[in-house]
Amino acid sequence: MGAAAALELARRGVRVLGIDRFAPPHSLGSHHGGSRIVRDCYFEHPDYVPLLLRARKGWDRLERDAHGGDPVVDGPIIHRPGVLYLGPAGSEVVDRSFESGRAHGIACERLDARAVRARFPQFMVPDGWGALFEPGAGFVRPERAVAATLALARRHGATLALGERVLEWSDTASGVRVHTDRGTHEADTLVICAGAWTPAIAARLGVPLVPQRVVIAWISPRDPAACAAPHMPVWYVDRPGAPGVYGIPTAPGQGDPSGMKVAFHAGTPCDPDAPRTPPTADELQALAAATAMHVPGAAGPVTAHATCLYTMSPDGHFVIDQVPGCTRTWIACGFSGHGFKFMPVIGEALADLATAGATRLPIEFLRIRS
Ligand SMILES: Cc1cc2nc3c(=O)[nH]c(=O)nc-3n(C[C@H](O)[C@H](O)[C@H](O)COP(=O)(O)OP(=O)(O)OC[C@H]3O[C@@H](n4cnc5c(N)ncnc54)[C@H](O)[C@@H]3O)c2cc1C
Repeated sequence: MGAAAALELARRGVRVLGIDRFAPPHSLGSHHGGSRIVRDCYFEHPDYVPLLLRARKGWDRLERDAHGGDPVVDGPIIHRPGVLYLGPAGSEVVDRSFESGRAHGIACERLDARAVRARFPQFMVPDGWGALFEPGAGFVRPERAVAATLALARRHGATLALGERVLEWSDTASGVRVHTDRGTHEADTLVICAGAWTPAIAARLGVPLVPQRVVIAWISPRDPAACAAPHMPVWYVDRPGAPGVYGIPTAPGQGDPSGMKVAFHAGTPCDPDAPRTPPTADELQALAAATAMHVPGAAGPVTAHATCLYTMSPDGHFVIDQVPGCTRTWIACGFSGHGFKFMPVIGEALADLATAGATRLPIEFLRIRS
């Protein structure tokens, strides 16, 4: 999110200094793992859909800018094999995704169990289950997206201070002062996008954010053809009473790790500064079993795994606002495991706020509520 804000501000001719304690893209925060789902039907809340439609334009622009003229990355950033949402009758994921899509004119199709079996024979769908297929959805390559965004930000004149850690920051009479482990910077405005480290750097926010450890696995499928895009869409299975499980098909140019990526949409609280505990055999077994239950052709050995960080807000919605009591400091955090697809539009919103103190983008519902 910080990379997106830096790029958008630099595009507008603003002098930008982007600071990160590591060197994004890296595998210590929330943006690694090779893929992130992008979709416009939004069960989390229909008010996100206008932001997603704007983000879609931003993704298309990023893809064009990253590969046009003098390319900044190799390989596609976006894949759109569609997303299939599956669930038992009454599934909130399926029903709410459909309602939000229909309300905003997103192309999507409801399917009953028989229609799913006919069209997507890879999936085991019990009678009585339903599905929603969103053909224009898919996934992005997050590391490539972050690398491209930062390279383009630099090209537009942004300075990036990587490997520099912010220790504290404060208001001054005319702006902000940021102390890091390398020195002190002064600026008119500060934008904070610190992911899972937000509680450490913005305690005065007053919103209890909880970093969570999330397990990801890559499976070498028994039936590789059944698990490859574009024949296999991205899939998400709603399991009421248990965390949803989802998978990203294999795709050309995937690189390492190979295989189908799977995860539960859930994590366990953690300290982002503590050494990361690798996935246990039980965690990987649970993931492989849930996958094989719904996608029999995906049964196969786990060939790679990782952990990643969610930053949960109390209601699962993002927080984008001024830091209370600080007129020159804006913050975007609490992305609660579903923020990546919004990256370009969050950059735009933050650039508006940092330069004009307001935005026409509909983010009112993401402001801090007291
Ligand atoms: C396993 C997993 C799967 C996900 N799947 C999806 C998905 O399918 N679709 C989707 O839309 N979203 C998904 N998400 C969520 C999405 O990836 C995140 O919401 C998003 O990446 C959050 O971005 P961020 O900029 O807030 O955090 P980060 O990308 O972690 O960036 C925060 C940055 O702040 C830096 N930083 C922190 N503290 C300091 C400091 N003191 N000084 C300097 N720098 C600092 C860090 O080094 C880091 O680079 C997923 C997340 C995970 C973990």
